[in-house]
Amino acid sequence: MSYTSTRFIRHFRLSSAFGCSTRDIGCLRITPAKKKFCTAAISVVQKGSEELLVVVGGGAAGFYGAVRAKTVAPKLNVVVIEKGQPLSKVKISGGGRCNVTNGHCVEKKILAENYPRGHKEFKGSFFDMHGPDDTMSWFSDHGVDLKVEEDGRVFPVSNSSSTIIDCLMSEASRTGVVLQTGKTVRTASANGGKFLLGIGKQTTSPVEYVEADYLLIASGNSSQGFSLASQLGHSIIDPVPSLFTFKTVDPQLAELSGVTFSKVKAKLILESVKRNIQQFTQVGPMLVTHWGLSGPVILRLSAWGARDLFSSCYKGTVTVDFIPDLHIEAVKSMLSRHKLQFLKQKVSNSYPPEFGLVKRFWKYILDRQGFSGDDLWSSIPNNTLASVASLLKNCDFGITGKVLNVDGVTGGFNFQNAWSGGYIAGSTIGTRVSDAHLKGLDLA
Ligand SMILES: Cc1cc2nc3c(=O)[nH]c(=O)nc-3n(C[C@H](O)[C@H](O)[C@H](O)COP(=O)(O)OP(=O)(O)OC[C@H]3O[C@@H](n4cnc5c(N)ncnc54)[C@H](O)[C@@H]3O)c2cc1C
Repeated sequence: MSYTSTRFIRHFRLSSAFGCSTRDIGCLRITPAKKKFCTAAISVVQKGSEELLVVVGGGAAGFYGAVRAKTVAPKLNVVVIEKGQPLSKVKISGGGRCNVTNGHCVEKKILAENYPRGHKEFKGSFFDMHGPDDTMSWFSDHGVDLKVEEDGRVFPVSNSSSTIIDCLMSEASRTGVVLQTGKTVRTASANGGKFLLGIGKQTTSPVEYVEADYLLIASGNSSQGFSLASQLGHSIIDPVPSLFTFKTVDPQLAELSGVTFSKVKAKLILESVKRNIQQFTQVGPMLVTHWGLSGPVILRLSAWGARDLFSSCYKGTVTVDFIPDLHIEAVKSMLSRHKLQFLKQKVSNSYPPEFGLVKRFWKYILDRQGFSGDDLWSSIPNNTLASVASLLKNCDFGITGKVLNVDGVTGGFNFQNAWSGGYIAGSTIGTRVSDAHLKGLDLA
């Protein structure tokens, strides 16, 4: 899953020749390029303004941006066009609880480091304009009680994503944002100082054309959104999958399915990547699944390595240190002491408790070292103990592919990107409309 939102704002000066007095935007009195204009495409209910902002996509960014633009410029007509269900990802996010943002990353440099794509850009003013604190204040000011969990994830106190949806929907309705669902923005072009948008219900249905003064593309990771942006002259970097788990071929590992490790240090090694990339080493929880490796550490590696993994055809190695808080020499001494204490016991029955491992995993390590189930500690030479220590500290797993469609716990950073991007776009458009309005008053 890759969750990079693409938003583009462009503004063309409003020409008075294009002014329309009716709010049925399809009724514009211009006929550029022999397009058919249809009143049914968008009906803007509010009267009193001549300008229209069309927001493509009724997700987190689209709603937040639309509400912000309408708040800054109340006279602006704002229409959100959503092809499916509005805020559908908010609904399923965070296991139905919606991890709204992250409350531990107030320092913008640290916050930016959580974005494999965008960390350089986000070190600039992006989060200064609207960061996690602002997001939390916004929702609190609009009646949503939030809580910060121990790991920094922020959720509504209700533990229900519906609270966030209800808040955004009612704020959109209160400010006068118009929502139109079941319609897809299929084409976009710059047309005589405005945007000409082709809107259709389904891919086969006829396109109706609408003119907008402002356009906010908040279509998430939809390929249609990328297409609209490229029609307007933007260049698109092809997206690649991110936040996936690693497939490994190791039948014995598969038997450990369900085993979790609260803290490992995992390093991603790809043949094509010769340089040392700091983010290719991650520390945190890991989970063994029936297909391979998962958990926050693996999801983070997949995100930071997304492009290199794609170009390596998802083949590589993950080296895992299962006891990262212990130095290898300490591990060797613990094994030696344990051997002396339990000479007559089977190796498979006991191991140093300081390792904090589960018995199933200890047996897996012994299997990989070629021990038989009946071997006694007394029969293990010291150099073999050193090999066991080394395996615990540097255990290689060959990656043979990726598994997509996982629900990664990512900490609320993706929504924060959507809130910040939507807010900044909405503010910029709203301010431009207000400034133009004030200028008009001055001239009058
Ligand atoms: C299962 C799951 C759980 C998640 N949990 C979390 C979490 O807890 N915290 C977190 O931070 N992130 C989470 N994410 C990521 C988060 O959902 C996204 O980062 C976020 O939704 C992006 O918001 P957006 O508004 O940019 O895009 P989207 O939410 O994808 O909204 C874009 C909207 O645009 C519409 N659209 C696209 N093209 C067109 C078109 N041409 N015409 C009309 N409409 C169009 C789409 O139908 C869609 O509704 C989760 C993602 C998933 C899949």
